[in-house]
Amino acid sequence: MVNELIALLEKSDNIVFFGGAGVSTESGIPDFRSAAGLYQMGNRIPPETILSHQFFYRHTKEFYDFYFEHMIYPDVLPNDTHILLAKLEQLGKLKAVVTQNIDGLHQRAGSKVVFEMHGTVNRYNCIECGRQYDLDFALSSAQKGKGIPRCHCKGVLKPDVVLYGEALDQAVIEQSAKAIAEAEVLIVAGSSLVVYPAAGFINYYRGDKLVLINAEATSYDKHANLHFECRLKEVVAPVLKHFSK
Ligand code: NAD
Repeated sequence: MVNELIALLEKSDNIVFFGGAGVSTESGIPDFRSAAGLYQMGNRIPPETILSHQFFYRHTKEFYDFYFEHMIYPDVLPNDTHILLAKLEQLGKLKAVVTQNIDGLHQRAGSKVVFEMHGTVNRYNCIECGRQYDLDFALSSAQKGKGIPRCHCKGVLKPDVVLYGEALDQAVIEQSAKAIAEAEVLIVAGSSLVVYPAAGFINYYRGDKLVLINAEATSYDKHANLHFECRLKEVVAPVLKHFSK
């Protein structure tokens, strides 16, 4: 079946990738919903509550304690999936990566067109004056992740991440929907496809070459033209080898 995927990718110059947290588990960042995911770690307050707009403003210190411990992985590296997607873009085959991830690993692998539906942990904005900072600044300002990061004006910094209860960025929505609607091949991978509205974006796809790769079943499996229920590396390693020749 991997050969079918390689043939599909060989023929197309209009591939779009839609991914989720499962794309980065092989880099060492836990996802939310699988057995080793963040939701199984027995936190006193559910992660959806902590990572919400309301909680950020009402309990900023607790928000950042959780955020720096569980959402920030400064030492991780892109894995084969990130590298393959950057390679396919370089070859003129892949038009865009649409990701629910906030870890910035696609860009670190070299991908240029990346639509981050849920924002990024790499940018922070002052809630008072709007000045923008990077992750290194936020970490050092928060005493290496033990406090609240603050602007030079003393205002609290907020990560440029879409928290629960917040709307997605309009420009990112439009660009993602357009890329998916115009794609010839859509690869959906590493997502439980239960987080809305992001998951609903794959409904914009109009083609007949939907590839779905996920370690466990999803409600979209029946719509896939090529379906792999396995870890990404099992599919990606031979594909990457093929396109690296
Ligand atoms: P999810 O945790 O709901 O689902 C991840 C899916 O990936 C699961 O179905 C799991 O079986 C699958 N998976 C895990 N490892 C895999 C692998 N190696 N190969 C194939 N499949 C694998 O994640 P989601 O659907 O992206 O939704 C969760 C939300 O959490 C997203 O909005 C995302 O922003 C956020 N999140 C992001 C990161 C990150 O940036 N790396 C990490 C955790 C959560």
